[in-house]
Amino acid sequence: MPELMGTTGLVLDEPLLWKKGKRGRTAFSMPRRDVEPVPVDPELTGDGPEFPDLSEIEVVRHYTRLSQWNFCVDAGMYPLGSCTMKYNPKANEKYAALQGFAGAHPMLPPGLAQGVLRLMSELEGLLAEITGMDAVTLQPAAGAQGELAGMLLIHAYHRQRGKVRSKIIVPDTAHGTNPASAALCGYRPVAVKSSHDGIVSAEAVGEVMDEETAGIMLTNPNTLGLFEEDIRKIAETVHSKGGQVYCDGANMNAVMGMAHMGKTGVDVLHLNLHKTFSTPHGGGGPGSGPVCVRKHLEPFLPAPRIIEEDGKFRLSEDYPQSIGRLQCFYGNFGVLVRAYGYIRAMGPKGLKNVTRLAVLNANYIRESLKGSFHLPYDRPSLHECVFSDRFQRAAKVTTLDIAKRLMDFGFHPPTIYFPLIVDGAMMIEPTETESKEEIDLFIEAMRSVAEEADKDPELLRTAPHRCKVRRMDETGAARRPCLAG
Ligand SMILES: *Cc1c(COP(=O)(O)O)cnc(C)c1O
Repeated sequence: MPELMGTTGLVLDEPLLWKKGKRGRTAFSMPRRDVEPVPVDPELTGDGPEFPDLSEIEVVRHYTRLSQWNFCVDAGMYPLGSCTMKYNPKANEKYAALQGFAGAHPMLPPGLAQGVLRLMSELEGLLAEITGMDAVTLQPAAGAQGELAGMLLIHAYHRQRGKVRSKIIVPDTAHGTNPASAALCGYRPVAVKSSHDGIVSAEAVGEVMDEETAGIMLTNPNTLGLFEEDIRKIAETVHSKGGQVYCDGANMNAVMGMAHMGKTGVDVLHLNLHKTFSTPHGGGGPGSGPVCVRKHLEPFLPAPRIIEEDGKFRLSEDYPQSIGRLQCFYGNFGVLVRAYGYIRAMGPKGLKNVTRLAVLNANYIRESLKGSFHLPYDRPSLHECVFSDRFQRAAKVTTLDIAKRLMDFGFHPPTIYFPLIVDGAMMIEPTETESKEEIDLFIEAMRSVAEEADKDPELLRTAPHRCKVRRMDETGAARRPCLAG
């Protein structure tokens, strides 16, 4: 195979332990018996399970190899657009594991949880500063839950003003969770088409905005990796009809330190700490989707809230207009510790550099690959860029084939078939933590795949060739998930 392995997360075969066992081999040495043997009640013994006999190193190697089948950002580049699969400093793992944090019981009285509460309070302050918003809740445990919280806040706001509204505007470049969160809150999502340059215009919003519409959910930067440049005008349009502006800020790594979101007319914004602010994520692990609001929405924030009085911190339930609790306890607290450590270590300059590098890397890839793959929106992007399989269609090679073939080169595929407005989309987000050398390897792999599509399309259609499993029944996996084994 001609592939140049970018990374080698792929161990190609590993037999079952049963195949490796050798009768009589053991993994431990018991001390010599120095007491008389006592017969064991035969009812308690009998035939045990047929476990294989193995040495310790065989077991260690077996499980270490299996663990390497799971592709992770510590093993190689993971350019999954919108997901920000970046390297997370290990120092933050250490802070999250500190006994006082990791062992804090959720029912600790505030007097014994001052450090925990202080960290949360300070983190709220840091996030308010980064976003330019007035108040923050750390309760939502994921981006999508942050969106739901935001919708509930907007709903509470309208209810307090005497008229609940029924619709919410969601552009076609929004993240997929946006319309779902709006619907979960009882709103009917109203789609707005983005214009030919990939962003939403204030005119298009003006055409659908009315007094039945609670507001707009704008993903910014949007899923094409573009900044919604009209955001101020859009906000004015929505506000003029009494609506509220929700910004999905999950991809803050594209704008932090550069854009003051609070000045763009946004009323509510959520962040994904597990994307921008250090926490290894994916696979359904814990996340954190803090919600930041302007002053007028603060009374509705989830309770309890952390307050400081005379240098002491406590949780207060005294918020009669609050939308209530979003979860019982802060089970995702470790994510907050990592984010706090990350922000404090980076400082304002460091965070600004994260943005700069994330944007630079994405644009480097965009420019380098635009001869090989079709670029539907050919303009500078922020932290990610979106290609399509249009150039490869003549050879009957699809985005799925390209993604599968890329795995043979040792890279995780990018996000595919999203955003929906690009047919056969490949959404690439390199993040700021990849070196130029690694990005060049990725570009080289992508170019090789494009050449192969011309010369030997069957090679792509039957890919991957080097992975443990080949093509899977993805519809079956989604419809009939078998999570047990
Ligand atoms: C990841 C993402 C979300 C959803 O976040 P989860 O934590 O996975 O629920 C929402 N919006 C955008 C733009 C995202 O990138």
